[in-house]
Amino acid sequence: SVEVRLEHLTKEYNNSFVAVDNVTLTVGAGELLALLGPSGCGKTTCLRMIAGLVDPTSGEIVIGGKPITKTPVHRRNMGMLFQNYALFPHMTVAENVAFGLEMRKFSRSEREDKVRKALDLVKLGHLADRIPSQLSGGQQQRVALARALVIEPSMLLLDEPLGALDKSLREQMQLEIRHLQQRLGLTTIMVTHDQDEALTMADQIAVMRAGQMEQIASATEIYQRP
Ligand code: ADP
Ligand code: ADP
Repeated sequence: SVEVRLEHLTKEYNNSFVAVDNVTLTVGAGELLALLGPSGCGKTTCLRMIAGLVDPTSGEIVIGGKPITKTPVHRRNMGMLFQNYALFPHMTVAENVAFGLEMRKFSRSEREDKVRKALDLVKLGHLADRIPSQLSGGQQQRVALARALVIEPSMLLLDEPLGALDKSLREQMQLEIRHLQQRLGLTTIMVTHDQDEALTMADQIAVMRAGQMEQIASATEIYQRP
């Protein structure tokens, strides 16, 4: 697993509106950091810059000691999971997961092996031949997680990954994702506006407000506050 650093990361949209303003933070190797804050404070923009989907105006992203701001999306090797997990409805579970490997060159047997391993990680091996509409919401989100993990990513980016699920399922999936992330030692940044979710899942919580980093603390430090 790798350490991730954001250094003075800034995004100005349309050369005027500063959505992310000079954000600096470090996520230790194998840690999960929650980016917490109200809607519009710049969380998703941070995540999209790390993913390579938005170009920073200035600043640097450093992964395992290497600056990656110039690295194209498909070479960043990041697993991504979003709220609208967007599975292909006409493809089976296994085909949906294999789609994560689309851009990479693997033999058929390597591909099948990787898909099987990813489905085992999320405990869906037995449902590989179903289509998404035959699965529950939680199972569908686990397929999307397997699709993110199948590339053996160097880090995981989660954007409100459980926002579409009801409360009890959400709480169950929070623990499942956290256990898996810890087991794989996968450095992870998760965007959320839910403080309880951040406290349940994160090693560190970074609170953003209006584009700026307001405070960074460990989940334990936040618990111990009066
Ligand atoms: P970059 O320098 O990364 O291209 P842009 O400011 O051009 O940043 O915007 C990034 C993305 O957001 C582009 O795909 C652009 O089309 C889109 N975009 C730009 N302005 C707006 C806006 N006001 N609302 C929604 N999307 C926008
Ligand atoms: P959050 O994830 O915390 O809700 P975002 O990063 O999505 O915040 O957005 C931060 C700010 O940047 C918001 O004011 C939003 O309207 C603005 N914004 C986001 N994307 C674009 C874009 N492509 N073009 C212009 N403005 C944008």
